[in-house]
Amino acid sequence: MTQKILTVCNQKGGVGKTTTAVNLAASFAHRGKRVLLIDLDPQGNATMGSGVDKNTFTAGTRHVLLGETDIRSAMLRSETGHYDVLASNRDLTGIDVRLMDFPAGELCLKNAIAAVAADYDHILIDCPPTLSLLMLNGLAAADSVLIPMVCEYYALEGISDLLSTIRRIRQTINPKLDIAGVVFVMFTSQNRLSLEVSSQLRHYFGQRVLETTIPRNVRLAEAPSHGMPALAYDEKAKGTQAYLALADELLAIKEPPAMPGYLKRMMV
Ligand code: ADP
Ligand code: MG
Repeated sequence: MTQKILTVCNQKGGVGKTTTAVNLAASFAHRGKRVLLIDLDPQGNATMGSGVDKNTFTAGTRHVLLGETDIRSAMLRSETGHYDVLASNRDLTGIDVRLMDFPAGELCLKNAIAAVAADYDHILIDCPPTLSLLMLNGLAAADSVLIPMVCEYYALEGISDLLSTIRRIRQTINPKLDIAGVVFVMFTSQNRLSLEVSSQLRHYFGQRVLETTIPRNVRLAEAPSHGMPALAYDEKAKGTQAYLALADELLAIKEPPAMPGYLKRMMV
């Protein structure tokens, strides 16, 4: 994989962003990579799902963004996932107003990451679902966006919004921002609608749709309540193995495939 900093983003909630960020982080680590997972969502689900208590840590994403703490001293360890975590909780809510005080409030995360980027092979960012300065920080800091998508009727609706956000970011603060791929999550292949929507999405995204699909799998949903990525909870589960396969697919990408016409038009 050529792209080191990956933001998991989709302007919708409940579409598997956090599940993807946590389990990819654990999968990369399982493959011997040095990984940092940054929780950029006030819900703190990626923090909890990594086995870090969101109610007790002293410094996390908020403090780093505001320049109150050095990023190294805010780093926590996911003992269940074997990667580092920059933790979040609801204290991150309302940070937009504070970030607006900075001359370049959308670049706070990017600037903070620069100090530790050399220590990691992969940095994953779990984005909040709403378009905000927080999300802009996630997109400004990234080399590439990974878009999890549920193949249901409304899947396409949010996508043009996300793509126009990405386009604006490319035109302004981060011209190199690429799309690592779209990954179908909570996939049920017996479902006709799923199959219809996925073939429609393949038409729009071409080879940017990753080959690995993540099945709907209850073990993936259970693992976070035990404070662990699925690899630590049930290594053999179909969902766990799917995320490992997704990590391997991403690691094997030497050069991003060509963008289909639709995507090109949306991106430039
Ligand atoms: P987001 O971060 O986009 O809001 P989450 O990753 O939190 O989405 O997922 C939303 C809900 O769906 C969670 O309860 C999660 O456990 C569950 N979930 C996510 N992916 C799967 C899957 N592949 N199979 C079953 N449940 C899943
Ligand atoms: Mg989430």
